[in-house]
Formats: sequence, C-alpha cells, structure tokens
Amino acid sequence: MQKNDIVTVTIDDIGVSGEGIGKVNGYTLFIKDAVIGDVVEAKVMKAKKSYGYARLMNIITPSPDRVKAKCQFARKCGGCQVQEMSYEKQLEFKNRKIEGNLERIGGFSTELLEEVMEPIIGMDEPFYYRNKAQFPFGTDKEGNPVTGFYAGRTHDIIANTECALGVPVNREILEIILAFMREYRISSYDEKSGKGIMRHALIRFGFTTKEVMVCLVINAKKLPHGEELIEELVKIDGMTSISISSNMKNTNVIMGDSYEVLWGQGYITDYIGNIKYQISPLSFYQVNPVQTEKLYGLALEYAGLKGYETVWDLYCGIGTISLFLAQGAKRVYGVEIVPQAIDDARNNARINGIENAEFYVGKAEDVLPEYYNRYGQEHPGEKACADVIVVDPPRKGCEESLLKTMVEMEPEKIVYVSCDSATLARDLKYLCAAGYEIRKVRGVDQFPMSVHTETACLLSKLHSNKHIEA
Ligand code: SAH
Repeated sequence: MQKNDIVTVTIDDIGVSGEGIGKVNGYTLFIKDAVIGDVVEAKVMKAKKSYGYARLMNIITPSPDRVKAKCQFARKCGGCQVQEMSYEKQLEFKNRKIEGNLERIGGFSTELLEEVMEPIIGMDEPFYYRNKAQFPFGTDKEGNPVTGFYAGRTHDIIANTECALGVPVNREILEIILAFMREYRISSYDEKSGKGIMRHALIRFGFTTKEVMVCLVINAKKLPHGEELIEELVKIDGMTSISISSNMKNTNVIMGDSYEVLWGQGYITDYIGNIKYQISPLSFYQVNPVQTEKLYGLALEYAGLKGYETVWDLYCGIGTISLFLAQGAKRVYGVEIVPQAIDDARNNARINGIENAEFYVGKAEDVLPEYYNRYGQEHPGEKACADVIVVDPPRKGCEESLLKTMVEMEPEKIVYVSCDSATLARDLKYLCAAGYEIRKVRGVDQFPMSVHTETACLLSKLHSNKHIEA
C-alpha cells in the first residue's frame, strides 16, 4: 500500500477514537468518519508497514447503522467523533470498549464479565445535553469576528453558533456578542500575535433552574463598551450572571485566574437530584447533568448505604458524590487536589444543610495514607474506619500507593467511578489481586456523539483470608 492509493474498503471494526477500520488484502486501514458496516472508497494518506491511515472519499454502500449527522460540521469539528453512527450503535461500541479493556488490560474472564456487567445507561435525548460551553473567538477572511469550535486537532475556528450538543440559548448569546463586536469594533484575540481582546465566551445553563451565566474571557483588564453589551445580554430569559475574566497570558488555558462580576451575581444555581450547587465561572461542574444524576445515583446504589457507614470520596471535586452519599451515611470525607473546588464543596454542603461531610485539600495518595498512619499512631491497636471508599479519578487513574492504602483500610466496598476504562481495568487488576472481587460494572454515557464513556464498578471485600486467619 502506498500514499495516494485509492482503495475500496469494507469497514468491519471501530477504533478507540471512533474511526472505522477495514482491511485490504490483509493490510489494515484506519478511516476517520467511516462507520462499521460501510463500504467506502478511501485515499491512503499515510502508509506504514502493516497499517495505514486513509481519508474517506466516498461512501459506496452505507452501513445500516449510519445516520445523517444533525450538525453540518460534524466531521470537521473536533467536538464530536461519532455523530454519523446511530446512537444505539454508539452505546454498543462503548459497552464493548469497557468489556474489551477489562478483558485485555484487567485480565478478567469473559464469563465473569458476562455475570457482572450491566447494560450501559444511555440518554433518551442524546443531543443538547451540555450545560457548559466555551466558544473561542476569531476573525474570518473579511475581517469579521466569528465564533464556534476548533476543527479537530487544530485551532482553526469553524464558525458555528448552533452546536447540537449545547443548549439553544448559546446561539442567542453568541449572536448578541458578535453584533456587539461588529458595532463597537471589538477585535478577537489572535493567538499568534497576542493582540486583540475577545478570547472566549463561557456560557453555563442550569437545567433545573434555567439560570444563565455568561463570562467573557478577555485579553484586557476592562471590556470597552461593556455597559452596552450588558444592556443586550440582560434581555435573555434567565440571565443571572455576567462577568469578565481577564487572561492576558499567551497560553492554551482558557480562563484567567479570577473573574469580575459586571452584572447580577457571581454564580448560578443548579440541582443534581435534590442537592443544590452554586457554580461560579471557575468552578468545576459536570457538563451533562441528566447523566450525572444517573451516574451518581448508581454510585449510591452500589455503595448500598444503611446509615452507619464512614465513607471516603476520593477525587471529590466540588463534592458532588460526597453530598449525594452524605444523605445516606454516618460520615463522609472528601479529598480533592484543587483548593477552589474544596471551597465550593464546603459551600455546597452548607447551603444544603449537610453537616456530616468533611473535606480535605491535597492529593488523595498523600491525604489518605497520612490520615491512616496518624490514626493508627493516635489510637494504638485501632484502624481508621472506612466502610466504603469511592474513587472518581481523572483519566490517568489512581496511584498504586493509594490503592495500597485503600486495601489496608479494608473497606467492605469500593466504588470506582472512571472516565477511562483502560486505567480502570489496570486498577481493578490490582484491587482484585489484593482481596477484592468485582460485583458489578456499568457504563453511563455522559458524552453522546463522542467516544468517551463513564463507568461505575462495585467491588466487595473477599472474606476468605479472615477465615484462614481465624
Ligand atoms: N466527583 C467529582 C469529579 C471528579 S473529576 C465531581 O463530581 O465533582 C476528578 C477530580 O480529581 C478533579 O476534580 C481533579 O481536580 C481531582 N484530582 C486530580 N488528581 C488528584 C489527586 N492526585 N488527588 C486528589 N484529587 C485529584
């Protein structure tokens, strides 16, 4: 196979990034935007010894699982990877991805996985689910301001104010900002020269409260003609918070270090289940509230709390899981590395009247072992209590030193919430070699149209060792 060859390929597999995979005379080709079941014509762009990458040129026979994308920019935009695959197939793909990682990386048997895996929880309406979006500003060839999303792997802006994953109010807000920029000649920030003012618009929407937040990230201290923009933005239904965040650094980081309220309050309020959250422009908050409620509901179900338990929620963020669990447990300890998130967690506990949740700032792999050792020293012969340990780490998973302490604390249950089933599988392998067994595994689709999925897993302590000791 050589570069620029044109080939006909039947797509019979799907890769980790959602790309179609097919073989031509034993040679494997990865083809972005091709759907499993398609017969396509493709042009080879890069040819290695046994595999290569090809560009989809023409769909000869469409797969029965191929659907028309809702968004006209679905292929170009970096936001969605599998919009042209039916949602049912997307869920099947994510389920198989979890299962495959647990088998390959975790070394768990097909029989076990068949027994413990529950079907992935999808969305009834897999579009318009995001409560947050950050739109970059740029300039088109005619010199007009534009906003939209970055094309995959680049910082080229696809001008589009109507993302199919975001809420409809995004468009209204962005059109107001663009009109304002044209009228008052406010320039878009240019990454190359470091010049220009408008960098990003952060928009957040409370699904339950219908409150709207706009925070403009600017390469300046003040927004020229800010008053005039506010006058227009406040006409939007539900507008609650308008702010600016000054970011004058030449970096990929979107938000500045702080923000200044221009109108209204500095936060919006929203609910997940019956818990209320105050969300500021810099707060972390789950982007898909509908599925978050299902995911954390599942974590709660897996924890199976009776009321007497001491629970640890490691990587607790703003305390979403902690506060969910606190309602059913004796005591919850949350641990999180970002201090502002812990401020939010404490505030959220307070506004909900939750008094049995306590939060620590620090690395989970530092805080838990320190606590465990200190407790042992202060209470000789006693162990720090943990009936249930919940972890929800970032993609790289847990440090082994943390897993070690978790095992030493001997909780009856470990609930592992993961956004990357590969590192989940690696960590489960460790835990299962150290006296735990998998009882349940279930995917929750937080990110329809992307290849990502969340997974929740329940582990129970095996008691066989104790019998032997006795
Ligand atoms: N359950 C949380 C979100 C978890 S996302 C919620 O719903 O709000 C993972 C979190 O882990 C992030 O908040 C991140 O800041 C935090 N984190 C990353 N590395 C960490 C570490 N080593 N120790 C503790 N927290 C960490």
